[in-house]
Amino acid sequence: MEFRYFDAHTHAHFPAYGKEKEDIIRRAAEAGVGMITVGTSKLTSAEAVAFAEAYDRVWAAIGLHPGHAVESDRDEDEFGASDDAKKIPAESFDCDFFKKLAESEKVVAVGECGLDALYADTEEKKEAQRREFVAQIRFANDINRPLVIHCRDLYEDVAKLFEMHKPKKSPIIHSFRGTVAEAKRFLEFGCYFTFGGVITFPPKKNGIDYAEVIREIPDEKLLSETDAPWVAPVPYRGKRNEPAYVVEVVKKLAEIKDASLETMREQILKNTGQAFGLRL
Ligand SMILES: [Zn+2]
Repeated sequence: MEFRYFDAHTHAHFPAYGKEKEDIIRRAAEAGVGMITVGTSKLTSAEAVAFAEAYDRVWAAIGLHPGHAVESDRDEDEFGASDDAKKIPAESFDCDFFKKLAESEKVVAVGECGLDALYADTEEKKEAQRREFVAQIRFANDINRPLVIHCRDLYEDVAKLFEMHKPKKSPIIHSFRGTVAEAKRFLEFGCYFTFGGVITFPPKKNGIDYAEVIREIPDEKLLSETDAPWVAPVPYRGKRNEPAYVVEVVKKLAEIKDASLETMREQILKNTGQAFGLRL
C-alpha cells in the first residue's frame, strides 16, 4: 500500500460517521492517506482497535482523555445519541483492560491523555486528571509505546510530569497550541508536534500565531492531523471533518515552512514512521 499523507490524530471510528465509515476510508484511500484513530475512554478505545483491525490503512491509539477522568457532558459525535444518559461518568484508567487491547499489533500509541484546564475547574478534578495521566505515562513505558498528549492551557504541568515520570518514547503533542517557549521545552523531551485544521484559519487578533510557532519547530518534529470529526480545515471549515482533508493541513505546513508540498509530504511521512514505529 502506498501512503502519501498521514492523519496522525483522528477519530474515524466515532459514531459521528454513522454508516458512512466505509466512504470515509474510501476517500482516504483515494488521497493516499493513512491514519491513527484515537480512543478517549475504555469504550472508544476498544472501538478504535476494532476499527483499525478492519482496515489496512488504519492504526489505533488507546487511552483515557483528561475530560473523561472527570464527569463530562455526553458528546453525541463521540458516544452516539442517548435519551437517558446526558452525562458520561468519570473513568479511571483500567490498566488490565488496556493491556489486553494493546495485544493488537495495530495499537501504536497510548492516548489521548494529558491535562485539560477546561475540565479542571476544581482541585479535585485537577488531581483526578493528574492521577490518570501519570498512570498512562507508566503504562506507555511499560508497553513501550509513545504517548499521544491532549493538553489545554496546562503545558508546564505536563512538562513537570514528564520530568518526574520520564516517557521512554518521544511523546506526540496533539494539536499543539502553546507558545514558542513551550515548544522549546517539549523539544527537550524529544517531542513531536501535530497540527490540524486551525492552522489554515486566518489568524485571530491576540490569538496564537501558529506560523511563528511552526517555524521554530524543526521539520523532523512536525506531524499532520485532522482531529476529525471536529475542526475541518479551510476550504471545508464548518463542515464535518474527515481524514482525507489532512492534505490541506500539509499544504499549509509547506507554505509556512517555505517548502514544496512534495518535500513537506515526504518529511511528514518519515516523521510519522519514526514517531509511531511504522513502516510507511
Ligand atoms: Zn482527539
